Amino acid sequence: MKSLYSKFVLSSVLVLAAGILLSYLLVNTVYHRDMKVENDEKHVRIAGEMASFIEKTDGLDLDLYLKTQAEAGYILYASDQEGGGTFYGGPFKENSLPQGTVRSVLDGHVYHGMRDLPAETFFSGYFANDVANTVGVPFTYGGRQYALFIRPDIGLLFSELHWLTAIMFVSIALIGFIAVLYTAKKLIDPLTELTEATRRVAQERFTELPDIRRNDEIGQLSDSFRRMVRKLEENDRSRKAFISDVSHDFQSPLLNIKGYAELLGKPDLPDSIREEYSGIIRDEAVRLSDLARQLLLLTSIDQITEPPEIGTVDLAGQLREVIRKYRWAFESKGIYVSMELDEAVYRGDRELLEKVWENLLSNAVKYTPDGGEVDIRLEAGPEAVIITVEDDGPGIAPDERERIFDRFYRADEARSREGGTGLGLSIVREVVELHGGTAAAGSRPSGGAAFTITLPRS
Ligand code: ADP
Repeated sequence: MKSLYSKFVLSSVLVLAAGILLSYLLVNTVYHRDMKVENDEKHVRIAGEMASFIEKTDGLDLDLYLKTQAEAGYILYASDQEGGGTFYGGPFKENSLPQGTVRSVLDGHVYHGMRDLPAETFFSGYFANDVANTVGVPFTYGGRQYALFIRPDIGLLFSELHWLTAIMFVSIALIGFIAVLYTAKKLIDPLTELTEATRRVAQERFTELPDIRRNDEIGQLSDSFRRMVRKLEENDRSRKAFISDVSHDFQSPLLNIKGYAELLGKPDLPDSIREEYSGIIRDEAVRLSDLARQLLLLTSIDQITEPPEIGTVDLAGQLREVIRKYRWAFESKGIYVSMELDEAVYRGDRELLEKVWENLLSNAVKYTPDGGEVDIRLEAGPEAVIITVEDDGPGIAPDERERIFDRFYRADEARSREGGTGLGLSIVREVVELHGGTAAAGSRPSGGAAFTITLPRS
């Protein structure tokens, strides 16, 4: 009994059987509580009518009359005052009456055997074919006292009631069983379909999804499954794109290094050319190392499932520190840096936030022309801390302001610019989003780029 289907069928059949048993016990209880008394009263009345008919009808053939009653569906026992008795109708299973019963009825008392017989179950009560399970009334015939005991014929009861009840129980059981098989199939079929689909998804076959349209929990499960598969498909696509981007971005510096290293091997190379080639090799090596470092950082951010390591960060102090680190770079290009920093203590991950400022400032250095200007502001509001970095560079075209945050995305102009990996801004956005904030790119009125980082306080 392993499959859900067989478990469901088995438990439903058990429930069905328990239902039938319980209803049987219920009927039995009702019989003992109410029907037994009513049945007894009814038969006392019938026996009384027989007795008064016998007494009133002159010249009645008692034997013939009782035989006729027996044929009408009763079992009778008539006993005279001498103790001789005659049975009519089908035989009684037990022919003995409680001690003194015949005497008591002959003396004019009514015998309530159908009511008083201590019967434990339905069958031993209603169907017990004993002479003790009768009602007894007295009557006079031909100047002699008689006691008449009657009960309905068990054969008659069987044919009329018992078979009907039996047919009813059997058909309930049969219909119930067929209904259980049908419902179980309806319930289990979509689950089997989903299981099959899960196997296909495991083989990266994302398109062959089951078409289950239902309004119940199975319908919800199927909807969630479809959503999950779409997400998996999307992840699979971006994983493949990521791998191809990574290999491309590693490939080109490696090819450059290989090519220029071969050129360097040529004899009689002028010193200036030799220096230029080794400079290119050095730059490409630096780019490769940056790429590897940033990829490692992104991978570690991807693996963060819980909120980042929270500590208190003095944001203005941290920004000043990073600006100081880049001072030589700004100075070497003659870039003027202005800052307006509110003091702000923020709860966040110190190391990751430092990467945000480093990436924004290194881009500002990279894209601002010689002698340009970079403005850095920090506004500490009650709800959020807003940091803006603006520069004098070429700016970012409106249709690229979102895409520049994608991994490996680099605007065309920037591709030729040395040292770019296309990963810096995706690190910025992922770190900021990890803190519940937003990172957006815009432009200054003068045309340069403006980056706005909003970090919520809560
Ligand atoms: P990269 O290493 O290429 O700078 P980023 O992810 O940091 O990678 O930036 C992605 C792209 O966004 C860059 O290639 C460039 O086109 C654009 N970009 C980033 N910062 C600036 C900026 N300050 N001014 C103009 N364009 C920028």
